[in-house]
Amino acid sequence: MRRAVCPGSFDPVTNGHLDIVGRASQLFDEVIVGVLINHSKTGVFTIEERIEMLREATSGYGNVRVESFHGLLVDFCRAQGAAVVIKGLRAVSDFDYELQMAQMNIGLSGVETLFMPTNPLYSFLSSSLVKDVVKWGGDASSYVPDFVRERLAARLRQN
Ligand code: ADP
Repeated sequence: MRRAVCPGSFDPVTNGHLDIVGRASQLFDEVIVGVLINHSKTGVFTIEERIEMLREATSGYGNVRVESFHGLLVDFCRAQGAAVVIKGLRAVSDFDYELQMAQMNIGLSGVETLFMPTNPLYSFLSSSLVKDVVKWGGDASSYVPDFVRERLAARLRQN
């Protein structure tokens, strides 16, 4: 079975992430969305909340699973039986760091990275930007699923 991992923080999932995951799901037998547990960075949502939202947002795909991981991405890939990492590239600015990571990962373990060009509709989109928009009352309805926007608004209004 050909499996690919789509890793990230997903704090929260955006339509840009979902576009990449959906396209990857057409190319591979199974796609595992890997939510990185990063103890040095607190997010707006807990890892469990991010997973819950990702599961809901990807429930329409029969071959997408959502899991969390910590430590090296290549170890997670090995544990999942995935030989490929899929990364979305938004702009040239993403490229330098992504290239370094891809080369390190292939050196560490032979795991390949495939870069997928972002859908131009979402090329400027990041979770951080969506958080700012929602925090200040902007309309984020084109950028995240409705249920995510509502959870984000409720969370950011609490603080
Ligand atoms: P961010 O906080 O910047 O959204 P994440 O770590 O959650 O970053 O993103 C995980 C991965 O999803 C990124 O490495 C990138 O490959 C991809 N990604 C994020 N946003 C987009 C987007 N708008 N279009 C395409 N790919 C994206």
